[in-house]
Amino acid sequence: MTNEELIKLAKRARLQSYSPYSHFSVGAALLTWEGEVFTGCNVENASYPAGCCAERTALFAAAAKGKRKFKKIAVAGSFSDEFASPTIPCGICLQALGEFCEDDFEIVLCENDNLIVHKLSEFLPIRFTL
Ligand SMILES: [Zn+2]
Repeated sequence: MTNEELIKLAKRARLQSYSPYSHFSVGAALLTWEGEVFTGCNVENASYPAGCCAERTALFAAAAKGKRKFKKIAVAGSFSDEFASPTIPCGICLQALGEFCEDDFEIVLCENDNLIVHKLSEFLPIRFTL
């Protein structure tokens, strides 16, 4: 699975976004070590904290299927069909991903037609653990 293919799946998942409040639609595509992809979109709620980001929607769908090891995630978000700036996962999603992913887990973002790849450790150098 190439980064281009993964971001395409994230953009496709974004089309299912339920974001009537922010109007900011996000899609995510999470790749397991076995090569399976789980997608998610942001799902907002009138009670704002009840909503969920695209990254965690994908992660929780995968976890609910027993998946525990992930290679990378692609994230695409925008107010329109243009992706002028990369959508970086929020702190809660980084912590949630950090539960299952190593420091070298890749986060694939898009900026216009360019792909940008970061490691989890760049965005979350230290994580909460018990
Ligand atoms: Zn988030």
